Order: sequence, then C-alpha cells, then structure tokens
Amino acid sequence: MRAYRVYAIEKGTVIDHIPAGKALKVVEILKLDQFNKIVTVGMNLESKKLVRKDIVKIENKNLSKQELNKIALIAPKVTINIIKNHKVDEKFKIEIPDFMENLVICPNPNCISRNEPTSSKFYKTKEKPLTLKCHYCEKGFKDFKLK
Ligand SMILES: [Zn+2]
Repeated sequence: MRAYRVYAIEKGTVIDHIPAGKALKVVEILKLDQFNKIVTVGMNLESKKLVRKDIVKIENKNLSKQELNKIALIAPKVTINIIKNHKVDEKFKIEIPDFMENLVICPNPNCISRNEPTSSKFYKTKEKPLTLKCHYCEKGFKDFKLK
C-alpha cells in the first residue's frame, strides 16, 4: 500500500473517496472558503476503490444532516470519517436520501415552490442518471441546483 500524507487533524471530519475533480465543489457547497478553521484539500490521490480520488479534511467541524445530503447529491458514495483525538471515531457512507426538503431549487420557473416562500420538496426516482422529482410541479429533473 502506498501511503500519502495530507495534514492530519486532531478533531473534525474527513470526507474521503470523493471522485477526482469534485473536491472544490464540496468546498463550495459547504461554504468552507468562509469557514475560519483549517480545511485541507487533497486532489488526485491514488485510491484502491477509485482510480483517483479527492479528499477534504475539515478541522473542528461536524457536518449536519443537510450538509451530508448536499455532499451525497454531488458526490455519491463518499466515506465520512469523524475524527476524535487523531483517531477515526466513526466511519460511514452517505447516500442520496429518498426525500429531500429545502435542499434543491426546482428548475421549473413556474413551479409554486419558486414563487412562494415555501421550502422545496424532492423525491429521488429510480431513473438513471439521477433524477429528482419535484413534489409541487411533479416534474423530474436531471439537472438541479442546490439551495
Ligand atoms: Zn417544481
């Protein structure tokens, strides 16, 4: 096994197995550029599971359910490691949830969720590539913007 070194953290969250090239997108959706703690981004690292992977380490931060859902939407199958005292305390995979509230903006300009101060609601469909269906206008979308 080839070892690579990225700044190790004492406490916080490591987002591992991000498909190569998506790390900056993760940084963007989590607004980590405005975060005042240390964030380490590793790109194009060698991986056993993927040809190349990206990794994001965030010191002193626990991700909320909503933040994890956002990551799942742009980079499914990443691994989340919760670090405590320099050790992995918890490790889990994230998946796109079946139901999402207030996570995605409906691309349909005529949708009621766009014109009223209501939260958006989307369902995951079984269609490939990933298609989300709006609860209000009942349309399915492959391209969507995160809130
Ligand atoms: Zn809609």
